[in-house]
Amino acid sequence: MNTLSFLFLGFLCAALAVRWWLVHRQLDHVQRHSSRVPEAFESRVSLEEHRKAAAYTVAKTRFGRWELVAEAALLFLWTIGGGLDLLDRLWRGLSLPELVTGVGVLLSLGLISALLDLPFAAYRTFVIEQKFGFNRSTSRVFAVDHLKQLMLLVLLGAPLAGAVLWILMHAGSLWWFYAWLVWLGFSLFMVWAYPVVIAPLFNRFTPLGDEAVKQRIETLLERNDLTSGGIFVMDGSRRTGHGNAYFTGLGDHKRIVFFDTLLDQLAADEIEAVLAHEIGHLKRRHIRKRMVVMAGLSLGSLALLGWLIEQQWFYAGLGVTQPSGHAALALFMLALPVFTFFMQPVMAALSRKHEFEADDFAVRQSNADALIRALVKLYRENASTLTPDPVYSAFYDSHPPAPVRVAHLSSQAA
Ligand SMILES: [Zn+2]
Repeated sequence: MNTLSFLFLGFLCAALAVRWWLVHRQLDHVQRHSSRVPEAFESRVSLEEHRKAAAYTVAKTRFGRWELVAEAALLFLWTIGGGLDLLDRLWRGLSLPELVTGVGVLLSLGLISALLDLPFAAYRTFVIEQKFGFNRSTSRVFAVDHLKQLMLLVLLGAPLAGAVLWILMHAGSLWWFYAWLVWLGFSLFMVWAYPVVIAPLFNRFTPLGDEAVKQRIETLLERNDLTSGGIFVMDGSRRTGHGNAYFTGLGDHKRIVFFDTLLDQLAADEIEAVLAHEIGHLKRRHIRKRMVVMAGLSLGSLALLGWLIEQQWFYAGLGVTQPSGHAALALFMLALPVFTFFMQPVMAALSRKHEFEADDFAVRQSNADALIRALVKLYRENASTLTPDPVYSAFYDSHPPAPVRVAHLSSQAA
């Protein structure tokens, strides 16, 4: 134990305390407002639907509380508790080449973490989602999904870890800069590979058949000088009753993907409004801005790691007895989020600002009323709370809370 250990524990406890406090605020607020539909939604959401949303939010939030505690406990066990050190010694015991040992330690850390998360995922899917009628997944689909995810973790993680560790060993003191280039290349590869290789492993994508909707979408794209790599319907209903829509992929080949559950719920002008919002994100360059911010942050982080990796106290303070490149990488990935936790509200606020901008764009391109109707349907069908705690929401939410967002749109409706 050294100064870093105490600093780490202090941040870990402070973050846990803040998150616990936020959860209680949220539970309190949602329950207190569950007996009356907020005025702005009175004509569109029934009291029964509003009560269901409250009960669903409370169930998820309550369970999330225990996840917070488990997460913090695990983090302690991996680091100061000696878990990573033990894993490292087990792999070293096999006397494999340094690079193989390193990849082995990083991959098994990832796999064990993924396996430990399984019971939580199963509880969310088969207890909470099931209880509120959202789960469409079977134990077979669930098992196959997770098996595929673990395989992807190995298939993608092994070459990435191997490349970064090799650079670490051979590229000299500027290794972190070359590792950053590899990371950037990998991220771009994933943006390309996700829609064409990875997503199809989990879902079926069929070209949108509804001609009326398609016509509207294509007109909207043309008006904005956009071409797309196709408009697809995804069989989201295989797993969940929740609906969504997104753009995916690189450059001019971005695909537009709608969950079948969303298409079932929305009218043509509402679908157009939702897509106009997504185009707003593109046109206001939100996606590019976010990528630049992420690239900058990862460069800064890797530069910091380039310094930490030479410091004996970095390893000792976080429970590792034998310094190595892979141990430094693992500790860094485990510990960094604890120290950057308090940046969360800043990132969330930035994201909400982008959501308002995309809404403003959508209002000019289609119309405010259609977007409001679409949003209310989505809130209703997804049983999203209309009355989140303002502080909880400010801290976490990437989207403005329902009443704020709808009020903002209403103020622009003609
Ligand atoms: Zn958005």
